[in-house]
Amino acid sequence: MNPLEAQLDYPFGDTIPAPGVLQEVVPGLAWIRMPLPFALDHINLWLLRDERNERSGWSVVDSGAGTDATRAAWEQVLVEGLQGAPLLRVFATHCHPDHVGLSGWLSERFDAPFVTTAAEFGFARMMAAALPGVDGPSAIPHFERHGLRDPAMLEQMRSRRNYYPSLVPSVPEAYIRLQDGDLVTIGGRGWRVITGFGHSPEHASLYCEELNILISGDMVLPRISTNVSVFAVEPEGNPLQRYLDSIVNLTKLPKDTLVLPSHGKPFLGLHTRINQLRDHHAARLSEVVAACEQPCSAVDIVPLMFRRQLDAHQLSFALGEALAHLHKLWYEGILRRTQDADGIFRFQRA
Ligand SMILES: [Zn+2]
Repeated sequence: MNPLEAQLDYPFGDTIPAPGVLQEVVPGLAWIRMPLPFALDHINLWLLRDERNERSGWSVVDSGAGTDATRAAWEQVLVEGLQGAPLLRVFATHCHPDHVGLSGWLSERFDAPFVTTAAEFGFARMMAAALPGVDGPSAIPHFERHGLRDPAMLEQMRSRRNYYPSLVPSVPEAYIRLQDGDLVTIGGRGWRVITGFGHSPEHASLYCEELNILISGDMVLPRISTNVSVFAVEPEGNPLQRYLDSIVNLTKLPKDTLVLPSHGKPFLGLHTRINQLRDHHAARLSEVVAACEQPCSAVDIVPLMFRRQLDAHQLSFALGEALAHLHKLWYEGILRRTQDADGIFRFQRA
């Protein structure tokens, strides 16, 4: 456990549910964990007892990546954990593949509506169709403009065309819309939708006042910082500002809220964690400002922020994240941006 994590409380200690097994959080709310084929090797999903159209069953928040390992774990959950009870609704906090991968599979199997925000629904549909602009190759001119000229790395990125569809075989064709402030009744309890930005287009966290529980999705994670990236589809975006504003918004919730994150373990210490994340980004931002005494591209900034060897997948996130820091400072007028004769954007202290 790192020193920052030691400032948080983990009410379940080291208990982690095995794949396919339900761990009760409170009666009617269970934690399941699904494998992921990345360095980040798991995602947490949340099952909530629910009723709909006079049927009783469970609703699930997020669905796991579309891999055989996750499907096998789901079969075990459905047969042993839920003992054949149906899924009634398939919620998604956001469009990333580990969150919506099996949404189509589950939704179709149970004729269960898919429930998410409009922007997450639209992005999931666009990315599952690998539309130009949101597929792997679209990142290439974007990253070239930000200094990536290594041919081998560019070639690896070009080959990632099917990355999203390979993990998200289908997304439901229709959905029920969530909007910020909506109160959704799940199993007789009200869950408030709190949208957040900067990690994905319109991320939905769910807060139940009666239980004082926040299903935070990827907006607040106990151990790792949430990825905040400038992507090719929104090349002038300022996602870090949006993200920081969004987590400040979550400090309106009580300090003793139990947080159920998508990665890591349930924890207490929401405000502490938000302060840690704000400090983390503030430290990164000052390192970036210091580096930009000289003109710097996003590629020049990556080794400052990530002091390890990165593969193409990690580098695309790292570059996006470096750019998110540069853009926040650029929008604040602390840095200015020029596009040089080589086509590369460089940022320098204004
Ligand atoms: Zn995510």
